[in-house]
Amino acid sequence: MKIAVLSRNKNLYSTRRLVEEGINRGHEVHVIDCLHCSMNITSAKPQIHYHEEVLEGFDVVIPRIGASVTFYGTAVLRQFEMMGVFPVNESVAITRARDKLRSLQLLARKGVGMPVTGFANKPDNVPELLKMVGGAPVVIKLLQGTQGIGVVLAETRKAAESVIEAFMGLKADILVQEFIKEAGGADIRCFVIGDKVIAAMKRQGAEGEFRSNLHRGGSASLVRITPEERRTAVTAAKSMGLNVAGVDLLRSSRGPLVMEVNSSPGLEGIENATGKNVAGMIINWTEKNQKPWKTRTKGK
Ligand code: ADP
Ligand code: GLU
Repeated sequence: MKIAVLSRNKNLYSTRRLVEEGINRGHEVHVIDCLHCSMNITSAKPQIHYHEEVLEGFDVVIPRIGASVTFYGTAVLRQFEMMGVFPVNESVAITRARDKLRSLQLLARKGVGMPVTGFANKPDNVPELLKMVGGAPVVIKLLQGTQGIGVVLAETRKAAESVIEAFMGLKADILVQEFIKEAGGADIRCFVIGDKVIAAMKRQGAEGEFRSNLHRGGSASLVRITPEERRTAVTAAKSMGLNVAGVDLLRSSRGPLVMEVNSSPGLEGIENATGKNVAGMIINWTEKNQKPWKTRTKGK
C-alpha cells in the first residue's frame, strides 16, 4: 500500500511508530503536513499539491490531526476522500468527535452511559443548570480544553456558581457534569480498532488530584477490563463512526461511563503501559479493510 500519514510532525512518537510499522510490513509511507497542502476543488479531478508536487497513487490516509488544526486538517482529509483514498478515520467522524456536545448527544442517542451533563449559554441559568446535574459537587469543563486544563472540581454550590460565572464572564463555552467520586481519580483508556478493544490502560491521578491526565502527573498501568466496559467502548467508537479511537471511561457505581472519544489517540502511553504493538495493529487492520472509494460520507 502507499500510505499517507497526515501529521504535522514526523518526529512525534505516534507518527514515527506508524511510519516504522508501515515500512516493516513492506508499505510505502509518506508523512504529509496538512498545513503545506493546497487543494483545487473541482468536480472533475480533485488534487492535493504538496511542496510543488501533486500527491498521487495513495491507497490509504492515516489522519493524525491535532486539535489546533482540526478545521484545515479535516478539509485536507476530505480532499483525500474525494480522490478515493481510504481514510482510517473519516473526516466527518473526526469532526463529530472534536465537538464535545455533539459527541455526548450522539452517545446519549445510542444509549451509552455517561456522567449526567448539562450545558447552557446564559448565566441566569446557573442554579437550574446545577440542579439538572444533581447539585454539587460538580465538574466544570471548558469545551476548548485538552489535557485536563480547564477541568475544575467545584465541591460546593457556592464554588460551582462562582466558577461558572467566571467562565461565562470570559465568554468561554463550558459544560457541567456530575462528579463521579467513586472513580477515585482514575479513568480507563480503551484503545479501539475496528470492533475490538485491542489494549486498555488505567490512568491514576497524582495524590490528591481528581484528574488522571498523564500531563497532570498521572501514571498509567495495564488493566483488565470487564465485558461491559469492552462493549461500551466499542459502541461509543461506533456511534461516532470511528475505526480507530481512544475511549475514556470512568468506573462508576452504575457501570462504565464514557467521558470522551478521541479520534487521534496517542500511541506512546498505551504502547508503554501495555507492551503491545498498537501501531502495527492499526496497519494490520488497514491492510484488511482498505478499499478505494469506500468513504460513505464523502465529507458531507
Ligand atoms: P481533557 O479532555 O482535558 O483530558 P477530561 O474531560 O478528560 O478533560 O477530564 C480530565 C480528567 O478529569 C479525566 O481524565 C478524569 O480523570 C477526571 N474527570 C473528568 N470528568 C470527571 C467526572 N465527571 N467525574 C470524575 N472525574 C472526572
Ligand atoms: N454527512 C454526515 C453523514 O453522512 C452527516 C453529518 C452528521 O450529522 O454526522 O454521516
